[in-house]
Parts: sequence; C-alpha cells; structure tokens
Amino acid sequence: MSPQLIPPATTMVIRGGRAILPDSDWHAPPAVDIAIAGNEIAGIATSFAEAAAAPIEELDARGHLVLPGFINAHYHSHDVLAKGALEEVPLESWRLYALPPQYPPRSVEEVRARTLLGGLECLRSGITTIQDMLTLYPFEDRHLDAVMQAYAQVGIRVIFSLQYADRRGLETIPYWKEVFPKELHGELSGAAEPERRLDLLGHFETVCLKAQARSRVHWALGPSAPERCSPALIARTMELSRRYDVPVYSHIYESRGMALQARLTLPEHGGSLIKRLAAEGALDPRLNLAHSVWLARDEIELLAQSGAGVVLNPQGNLKMKCGIAPIRALQDAGVRIGLGCDNCSCSDAQNMFMAMKLFTLLAAVSDPIPGPPQAAAALRAATEAGAQGARLGGAIGRIAPGYKADLTLIDMSDPTWSPLNSAVRQLVHVEAGRGVRHVIVDGAVVVRDRRLSTIREDEIYDEVEAVMPGFRRDFAAISERVKRLQPWLDVAHKRMVATELEFDRIYHPF
Ligand SMILES: [Zn+2]
Repeated sequence: MSPQLIPPATTMVIRGGRAILPDSDWHAPPAVDIAIAGNEIAGIATSFAEAAAAPIEELDARGHLVLPGFINAHYHSHDVLAKGALEEVPLESWRLYALPPQYPPRSVEEVRARTLLGGLECLRSGITTIQDMLTLYPFEDRHLDAVMQAYAQVGIRVIFSLQYADRRGLETIPYWKEVFPKELHGELSGAAEPERRLDLLGHFETVCLKAQARSRVHWALGPSAPERCSPALIARTMELSRRYDVPVYSHIYESRGMALQARLTLPEHGGSLIKRLAAEGALDPRLNLAHSVWLARDEIELLAQSGAGVVLNPQGNLKMKCGIAPIRALQDAGVRIGLGCDNCSCSDAQNMFMAMKLFTLLAAVSDPIPGPPQAAAALRAATEAGAQGARLGGAIGRIAPGYKADLTLIDMSDPTWSPLNSAVRQLVHVEAGRGVRHVIVDGAVVVRDRRLSTIREDEIYDEVEAVMPGFRRDFAAISERVKRLQPWLDVAHKRMVATELEFDRIYHPF
C-alpha cells in the first residue's frame, strides 16, 4: 500500500507509534503515523508520505505507545508544597492541615512556584490536562494572574475553577460542635468560608469568562461541596453553568462522616445530599462529583438518570481512611467515571498510572462477582470520561482527526513491555510512569526526551526552594496547632466511626 499524502497545513508528523485509537485493538494497537496541524490532529494513516517541504517536524515514535494525554480530573494546586508532609490521617483532621484559616496569606512567589511544580509533575507523568480546583487565599487578582501565567508558561492544559462555599465547615462535620470547647470553634474553619468569601461568582462572570480566550485554559465552577453551600449558592452556580455551558466540580461523600452528616441532618431529603441536589435542580451532565465513596444505591440511580458524573480519587481515599468507592455499582448503572489524583497533601503523587491501577484493583473488591474487563475501563476513565465531564468530549481524550493534539508517548524499550501480551493491561498494571518520554499539549512538544521543554526544570526547583523556608515554618505552626486539637479530634472521630456502625446498612449497602 502506498503512503498517503500528508494533510494540508501539517506541522508535525509522529511516525510509527503504536496508537491507542478509539476503535483499535487496545491489546495490540496498530503502528500508525499521526499528522498534526497546529494544535489539532489532522489525520491518521498507516503511513504518510515523506514531507516535500522542510518545516514539518518529524517525531520518531517507533517502539513507543501513543496515548491520548491523561486527564487528571481532580486536583488542587494550593497544597503542592505539602507533598509527603503527612502520614495517613482521617479526612476530617486532614482538612485542618490542608485549608486552615490561620495560614498567613501566601506570597505571589509561592503561588507561582507551587503551580509550576504541580504542572511539571503532571506533565512528566503523561498528564496533559488538569482540573485545578483552587482555593486561592487570599484572593487577589495578582494571585490569579500568577497562576494563569505559570500555567501558560509550563504548557499544560487546565480546566480551572476557584473553590468557594458559604457555610462554615464546623457546621458540616458530625459531633465537632459538641465535642470541641466553644473557644476552639474559631480554629476549625477553612479558608473557603463565609467570612473570607469574596464575590467569586461575580468575578467568574465578569473577569474569567469575559477575558480574552486563553490558550489551553478552560473555565469551570467549583462549589466546594453541597453541604458547604447554601441552596442559593448552588442555584447560582448551576445557572451560570447552564448559561455558559461550563462544567461544575464539587466534592461529595468522601468520608463516612460526610455521609453520616447528611443522614443526620437532611431528613427532608431522605438523609441524602444527592436527593437535595436533585430537588434543587443541580443534577446535570455538567456536574462532576469528586470521590462519591459513600453513595447509596438509590443515589447512584439518580446520578445515572441525570447524566451527572463522578471523579474517583482512590489514592487519597485510602490514605485519608475514607474507604472504597462502589466502582462496580457505578459502572453497572452507567454513571460517567473520571479519575483524579487530588491534593498533594493527601495523595502525594500526581500519577494517573497509580490511579488507574488502584481503580482496577478496587473495582475488583467493590463487587465479589467477576465483572467487565477493568484495564480498558481505567484508561477510558483517565482519558475520555474526564474529557466528557469537562464538556470537552469532542476536543480531548481521544486520538482522532479534529481532536486537540494532546498526546503522551511511552518508550516501550523497557522490561514493562517485554513480552508484549496486552498493551492496555501492561499500561495499567505494570507501567508506573518510567516510560513517559514525550508529551505533546495543544500541538507543542512540552516534554521531550523526559525533560520539560517549556521552562528549565532546575529553575522551577530553585523557585520552590526559595519559598520553602516560609512554607515549612507556617506548616510547622499548623501542625503544632492540630496536635493541640488532637484529643478532641480523636473523640469526634471515634464517635463518628461508632455511629457509622449503627448506620452502616442504611448508608453503605456494599
Ligand atoms: Zn478535592
């Protein structure tokens, strides 16, 4: 068969990689040439003819697996610098480290350094898109500008939302109000809370959406969690989401405590936050609910009927003692499932290989009866489903003509791939990121030969080191404070776990 002509306007040809195409055999993907024109995939062929004109870049991908870039659909850049700072702690205690109100305002330099470092880690792990649900504290335009500038420089695609709430965290955690002495209540709230709230939604509408379109930035809305948002705030969020067709990201039922609180405090909605969202008209295909660990069966049905999706974060859910999401029940119901790596302080690694492997393993234990093949399901969750949840299902998450050229190339000259029995199974169960060699975002090679090509990596590490003394000092002070609160935290947590046993069959039927 003679080679096809290169499509017009082609700027790069990726030659001979084994590509995970939507309809190809993912166990034995075919070797193909991929033509890129600007920031889009222009064509795919068994082989394209040699370029007649010189300015077309040729990337030799023989011996490489070519994937749609991963979509890390749940991530927060605000605590990138806390990576590895904590052992496993229950989620309710962890929040005091992650979003404490007593952190002094962060500098622009720190905001920039952490944003760059997170982007670097994600890109080097083959992630081409992140959903950054950012608590920006304090919120000032110069901080937001620093974030946007860092993302533009590092070259990753971002679905960006600010995290907001209008109810105090203390009101939403079982037993804290009763267990903690009143004089400590002020220490138990988070930065995304009312007294520190600005008109973020007004800002979203007037500044973000009306700003000039930024390359690789897509806007989203980030109500922190339904229990931390009033019905009015949820209504305003959904109204904006529908008016501008932007996705909404929120958290739900990450820990037992969150489900317990709903069961205890929402009798008018059958003890269910999902039923509350349904009553408020918020269940919608634009909605993505991170975690979804403690969903009941009727809640899963409501998600499936409405088209609302979930984003699972197995690493953080295990480390924060939260539990295992009902993966098989979600799959059986046909709920859209994306995958994320969550905060660096609770998941530590921005690594979708780990997330995919845990997804398949936890799917296995979420139902004792054998079910559908999980390796391909994990890869779909890490690519296509994340794209659909972001309202970008026609633009990213697949290798197909007309899609954005967001691609990850994995070097297969590695024991991971020998012998090659199944590309997709070895990708999910064996590869851990060692093989990520080139990463292309929006048509640009942003990682080449395992090195970031947009900024010198050393410069990023230097910027991080420069802000670490201040961050470490403040983190140590926070840790001391949490240590003082520990006796009451332990009492509240034990009481919550004990109560959970009484409620177990009601709110966790798996
Ligand atoms: Zn989160």
